Amino acid sequence: MYLSSCVPLPLHPPGLNHLVKQSLFVCAVCPKKVSQTAHEALEHCKSREHYDCYQAHLKALEVSWGGED
Ligand SMILES: [Zn+2]
Repeated sequence: MYLSSCVPLPLHPPGLNHLVKQSLFVCAVCPKKVSQTAHEALEHCKSREHYDCYQAHLKALEVSWGGED
């Protein structure tokens, strides 16, 4: 393998203008559910999977509120 460590990196990192800022929709009640668009996020919230996760989330909140010992 050829080592090119003797070549100094440029002061200004190349390709900075190719960075794209993306906003994602992350569902806080469904583990690791990420939607790319608002439409996708809305469709996710209508899904059975989300409904079940949401119910479980509410139950977990109830437990943490109720437990004062
Ligand atoms: Zn969800």
